[in-house]
Amino acid sequence: MPSLDKRSKKKQRVDGSSGDDEPGTQGARNDALLAKVDPEYLNKPIDIKQGEAKTRALVASLGTVKKKLGESIKTLIDIAGEMAETLSEEHRDEDYHEDAKLAALKNDKIMSQLDRDFRAALDREAELDIRMTTASDLRMRIAQGHQMTNVHKWYEDKAKDKLEEYTSKTPRQRYENNVLFERYRTLVWESYTDGRGVPNIKKFLPREEGDDESDDEDFEFGAQTHNFQCPITLSTLEDPYSSSLCPHSFSGDAIKELIKSSGGRSPCPVSGCDKSLTLGTVHADEGLRRRVAAHVRRVKEGRAPGATQGRTFEQMDLDSEDEDEDDDGEEAHRVKKEMIKAARA
Ligand SMILES: [Zn+2]
Repeated sequence: MPSLDKRSKKKQRVDGSSGDDEPGTQGARNDALLAKVDPEYLNKPIDIKQGEAKTRALVASLGTVKKKLGESIKTLIDIAGEMAETLSEEHRDEDYHEDAKLAALKNDKIMSQLDRDFRAALDREAELDIRMTTASDLRMRIAQGHQMTNVHKWYEDKAKDKLEEYTSKTPRQRYENNVLFERYRTLVWESYTDGRGVPNIKKFLPREEGDDESDDEDFEFGAQTHNFQCPITLSTLEDPYSSSLCPHSFSGDAIKELIKSSGGRSPCPVSGCDKSLTLGTVHADEGLRRRVAAHVRRVKEGRAPGATQGRTFEQMDLDSEDEDEDDDGEEAHRVKKEMIKAARA
């Protein structure tokens, strides 16, 4: 390949390397160096093999960043849930009014900061998705033999257009169908209100200019309180699995066993549901798992909705100290709550 030969000679001349060019770090360093010396270097026509390798490396490194971001997002959800639970203790004796709770949540300094951080993380994730799609698109074009000269510019321009399209969206358009946003707001709401049903998402994302005006008409139905019960075992959900065909969830072992024992396909066990489930249409539901764990804590502390109310916060703390002696999870949770409390003081 003549073009490759020419380039590696050029590399040797510029960085003075002996030519024992290992792929990977050395190559990347050479590229960076060449781009500095000759900004046009990255814009020279590239051959298929080299282009394919470069774009594949780009997609892979974007994927690594996205994975790390995903971990931070999960941590942020946990922190927000803990924080909301701690705050709920300060408002336990107040009457429950959905709109007042929404306003209090929005006006709390820490919760609103967490909300901003969370949305910023989702935006960053959307940006990474855009960059990965653009890089994959570029990789395909190179593989198909498209004549491409300004490769770097093509990538940046294309990504920039899509990013501008994203940032011109309203919050409702950005987050309304985002699974992680849903996970965040349900956990925060239930933790903040001792397990009350979470209001319609449109209340969390008020209509702004640019949103469909008729969009707000049909959401004034009451929020449903989740009972976290498995329709098969009739006990609290364990290792919850959710259906991707209907809004139903089950204890993991119970639904998997049911499907297997029915020859790989079982009608949804919720009466009135006409979906038929396979192992491919149910999935472990991490968001629900967090909500169940918070629910179990509330029940244990006697503050689930409908629970006979009466224990004060001080009593609860004393009780939990006794109960928690041989329970590491609960103990860790108590310590975390105390740390949050101390941080706020
Ligand atoms: Zn169902």
